[in-house]
Amino acid sequence: MSGRHEKGVNVQVLLRCRPFSDDELRNNAPQVVTCNDYQREVAVSQNIAGKQIDRVFTFDKVFGPTAHQKDLYEQAVIPIVNEVLEGFNCTIFAYGQTGTGKTYTMEGECKRSKSGPNGELPSGAGVIPRAVKQIFDTLEHQNAEYSVKVTFLELYNEEITDLLAPEEISRVVEDKQKKLLPLMEDGKGGVLVRGLEEEIVTSASEIFSLLERGSAKRRTAETLLNKQSSRSHSLFSITIHIKEANPEGEELIKCGKLNLVDLAGSENISRSGAREGRAREAGEINKSLLTLGRVINALVEHLGHIPYRDSKLTRLLRDSLGGRTKTCIIATVSPAVHCLEETLSTLDYAHRAK
Ligand code: ADP
Ligand code: MG
Repeated sequence: MSGRHEKGVNVQVLLRCRPFSDDELRNNAPQVVTCNDYQREVAVSQNIAGKQIDRVFTFDKVFGPTAHQKDLYEQAVIPIVNEVLEGFNCTIFAYGQTGTGKTYTMEGECKRSKSGPNGELPSGAGVIPRAVKQIFDTLEHQNAEYSVKVTFLELYNEEITDLLAPEEISRVVEDKQKKLLPLMEDGKGGVLVRGLEEEIVTSASEIFSLLERGSAKRRTAETLLNKQSSRSHSLFSITIHIKEANPEGEELIKCGKLNLVDLAGSENISRSGAREGRAREAGEINKSLLTLGRVINALVEHLGHIPYRDSKLTRLLRDSLGGRTKTCIIATVSPAVHCLEETLSTLDYAHRAK
């Protein structure tokens, strides 16, 4: 473990590089990213107009193109979910250029398929279904009362919409405008999203229909408002309450929360970050992504002031970032040359968060 873990800041940064897509393979796209999972290194090399770029980055863990969903989950996520089961709040972010595998990593590719015999998950299942399965597998073997609740929201242009709101409401709303939910202070130092649907989940298998409902809604809203999902963040939160008796027979409640965040495409900050001020709208869209970077930097650098209040995303995650929490950033990149510029900017961003 590196020094910052001893100092109490628990930010783990992982790098995942996806395989070449069929299109890239067909076009013989040159490869500029090489992963050494064992050495936890990512090398970028390319010759542009006679100028050679060679850079090597080290992360807490590296998952190259052949790494499976299961590998990433077992090596990086299991300990975080164990913390949540102990009553702590933790957050996992997927950060990267659009098309590099953020949604694949968080949700995966198995929503329609049923889980196998023995409740095995399909191999394409991402972090969200695996985490839910780990939670139920653990709770079902404990002799304690528990409840598991989930919420799924989208943040676009600093506005919150509910990805689990019942169909009838959303259809009416889609005719006019999307229903936006207000973020309020709860009077206890936290925040709450008024009107957000909280779904009680009783088994891991229910998660697929929830994910499907949420993702379908994200797509509809997209066409209706003519926006790109690459500009919105989605936040899937799982809250667990466990009622336990201590050896003296006293009852205690453990409450833990896991936040799983599929961030807006990072190209939205690297590009319009440069022309900030000119396009106010772009600024609003990126506010949460920019502020998140500042909050994580402030936590890692042990700065006194953590600017949680500067964006909706960081306000929503305030009770799960810093203090006795674990944070994991999964940065995703493409191996191909046409993504080089964005890949370098993702690697720089992720490296700064270390
Ligand atoms: P993003 O959410 O970052 O925009 P996606 O998750 O939608 O990107 O991934 C883009 C495409 O690449 C999808 O077709 C996805 O299935 C595929 N993909 C991404 N990562 C991997 C991976 N590690 N292994 C196999 N396919 C992947
Ligand atoms: Mg996506």
